[in-house]
Amino acid sequence: MAVLFPKLRQPDDVEALRFGERALDYRELAGVAAAIADRLAGARRVAVWATPTLQTCAAVVGGLAAGAAVVPINPKVGERELAHIVGDSRPEALLAAPGFEPPEALRDVPLHEVDLAARGGQLPPEPDDEAPALVVYTSGTTGPPKGVVLPRRAIRANLDALAEAWEWTDRDVLVHGLPLFHVHGLILGTLGPLRLGGSVHHLGRFSSEAAAAELAGPATMMFGVPTMYHRLADDAERDPAIAEAVGRARLLVSGSAALPAVEHERIERLTGQRVVERYGMSETIMNCGVRADGDRRPGYVGRPFAGVELKLVDEQGAEITTSDDETVGEILVRGSNLFSGYLNRPDATEEAFVDGWFRTGDMATRAPDGYIRIVGRKATDIIKSGGYKIGAGEIENALLEHPAVAEVAVTGEPDPDLGERIVAWVVAAHEVAEGELVDHVARLLTPHKRPREVRFLDALPRNEMGKVQKKALVHG
Ligand code: ATP
Ligand code: MG
Repeated sequence: MAVLFPKLRQPDDVEALRFGERALDYRELAGVAAAIADRLAGARRVAVWATPTLQTCAAVVGGLAAGAAVVPINPKVGERELAHIVGDSRPEALLAAPGFEPPEALRDVPLHEVDLAARGGQLPPEPDDEAPALVVYTSGTTGPPKGVVLPRRAIRANLDALAEAWEWTDRDVLVHGLPLFHVHGLILGTLGPLRLGGSVHHLGRFSSEAAAAELAGPATMMFGVPTMYHRLADDAERDPAIAEAVGRARLLVSGSAALPAVEHERIERLTGQRVVERYGMSETIMNCGVRADGDRRPGYVGRPFAGVELKLVDEQGAEITTSDDETVGEILVRGSNLFSGYLNRPDATEEAFVDGWFRTGDMATRAPDGYIRIVGRKATDIIKSGGYKIGAGEIENALLEHPAVAEVAVTGEPDPDLGERIVAWVVAAHEVAEGELVDHVARLLTPHKRPREVRFLDALPRNEMGKVQKKALVHG
């Protein structure tokens, strides 16, 4: 039987998890997890109110030990979305930190407060490898969130592949400030170190100062989303101590959204670090990424991880076999990293697969050496204008090279002549004329890729992972 967390079965006093002043070693964590598993015995599905706390991490480990499928819930979730998640996943218990007041939709679910001082006996026997371990709700970037059922097998296999690619071991101390209800912060950032028998220092909330203090101290690696690297670069620019601390890391990894090439280069210039980028999603955990010993090329997400097969297909579904870094196709994947289906959504599950391959909805090119470059999402980032298919990302990257552009998102809007017209939504660093930005794109790329309109705004709508919500931009 494949054991998910070997060290919890032979625990010692190595630190497993830390949030600020509070930490749990493996022996303590095994004890709390066993106590939770005792209370949950027989439960099929349990929800965790996923605040950034030690209690949340212990609750997830305890739920997994009980053999239940754990449903992490964003504590900032709105009423309607929460009602959807609870109605969809029907949890038999709710785990939360002490003092939690359940909102309406969770009133009828038995509440268990996580007591970090509790100790249970033996951990129950390891559940089946194909048993559902997590139900993660997608970010809802393109539609209502769907419950992604991830089996233990996918978590185990994918984490092992990441460990190999990133030379990630029990000697590493990971630091991150990611939320605990998505794949990034939960599977990679929490279950990853625990599977390896290493340590993770959670910041709870990201700040450059806190991350830098960890990297100047025990932390060897950091996981983050592009908005965090953006802030880190800004802060490194004004504070050499931050730049110096970041420069000491063994490995910095970025994902969840595209890390703009200009940002990658800025971090390197300021800290000497070349950030490793990886690409994944709730349904597949991680598909590909740059290896620790790989070529850290800005704008590229490397090659598929071990156990993952990846192909690009054209609009007819035919495989694209050229590797010219130009031909754009949709990414399809299959392998041990895949989810087992959307919860209660056989229709959506069926639609998502072709001949056993999962359609990611993401568009990419492949370079001669196999490196994948994400162009954007099929649904929102491919603009059909004047007979051309134009990737929003390319225009966004070009605009970011202009010194007046702090942040940008490019969308397509219906247009009677062009089919769709290119609109750039810009957060400006300082005043700039619309025409100057339009000319900048026309000069850097080609004239047909220039925005037909620039709309200035104070901030882009982003979710808690820093992903730009293009739906909100387009529909106001
Ligand atoms: P929904 O499926 O509900 O619309 P979502 O796709 O944003 O939401 P997630 O599963 O959390 O929810 O995010 C996965 C998506 O994030 C990928 O499909 C891809 O579009 C994007 N992504 C992840 N990593 C990268 C990366 N390195 N570069 C570009 N895009 C990325
Ligand atoms: Mg998605």
